[in-house]
Amino acid sequence: MPTKRDYYDILGIPRNASEQDVKKAYRKLAMKYHPDRNPGDTEAEEKFKELSEAAEVLSDQEKRSSYDQFGHSAFEGGASGGFSGSGNFSSIFEDVFGDIFTGGRGGGQRAHRGSDLKYVLGLSLEEAVRGTNPKIKISTPVECMECLGTGAKKGSSPIDCVQCGGTGQVTSRQGFFSMQSTCPRCRGAGKVISDPCVRCQGQGRHEEEKTLAVKVPPGVDSGDRIRLSGQGEAGLNGGPPGDLYVQVEVDDHPIFTREGENLYCEVPISFVSAALGGELEVPTLEGRVNLKIPSETQTGRLFRLRGKGVDVTQVRGGGVGDLYCRIAVETPVNLSRKQKELLQEFAEESSDKQSPKQASWFEGVKNFIETLT
Ligand SMILES: [Zn+2]
Ligand SMILES: [Zn+2]
Repeated sequence: MPTKRDYYDILGIPRNASEQDVKKAYRKLAMKYHPDRNPGDTEAEEKFKELSEAAEVLSDQEKRSSYDQFGHSAFEGGASGGFSGSGNFSSIFEDVFGDIFTGGRGGGQRAHRGSDLKYVLGLSLEEAVRGTNPKIKISTPVECMECLGTGAKKGSSPIDCVQCGGTGQVTSRQGFFSMQSTCPRCRGAGKVISDPCVRCQGQGRHEEEKTLAVKVPPGVDSGDRIRLSGQGEAGLNGGPPGDLYVQVEVDDHPIFTREGENLYCEVPISFVSAALGGELEVPTLEGRVNLKIPSETQTGRLFRLRGKGVDVTQVRGGGVGDLYCRIAVETPVNLSRKQKELLQEFAEESSDKQSPKQASWFEGVKNFIETLT
């Protein structure tokens, strides 16, 4: 056995160098002497081998302390089950360089679940509240029935790739060092189709428009999703299909707005009705109902019609919501001379006390202005 050089000397580091220093020194020198950069240079290859061995030992605490104690003899003979000088250094190399040279791992013909798909289903408020069973058309990759997803023409089957022997990985040797990379012929699949299926051009799946019936339960709202299991994209290499998510988007309604299980609508009334009270017709999703307005009703007041909201029992529990009618008192327009005179007369008969909100507002403003001076 030829005399070995000192591992610390090889890496050009002091004996108290940290593990980081070991890796840093190795990284610098390994880049310089890597066989890929010095094709055919056996001296560089020897040097690279020497470097890797030194770094492998000195970056491992246990091995390093054995080396510090016994020198090279710590790894000779193999009786101790220790480090063998001609072993595989790829672990230190990968540790320091990652996948730069190895081109990544993995590959092979793995089954992949198909992707999930999303379909946006626009509904009117009435449809969302009552539930509906629309048919939707989607175009999605489905498994080819001609080749049953294999991509190979009927009667033939994919054959093992000749370049990688079906593993999807090729190994190239640079001196003692072997590198694995994805097979360029089959792109890691391990199989190649010699006789592709005509229907799917060897893809194993093809786009197809399908019509699906969707059961939309009553009470759904924007953002709710209905899952159609297995109706997403077909899987690859025998993997299961993904799911289709039908996402509900409810259109704006001219009369009602919705918040959870409750509905809201604005009801404009004349200021005479607001002042004197009366009965008026308001809309609900099931038609008109009468609403009694008490006298002296202010604008913005909410009247609740119990149970006239949305039944969300089937979608999230909690029963039926209510309908809230918000009163908007309207100022009359296009007043006649007679009306103006009557209003003038009315004003003369009125006092501050009849506008309680206005009176307290003026009081508040007055107090505020005083704080400014
Ligand atoms: Zn096919
Ligand atoms: Zn291959």
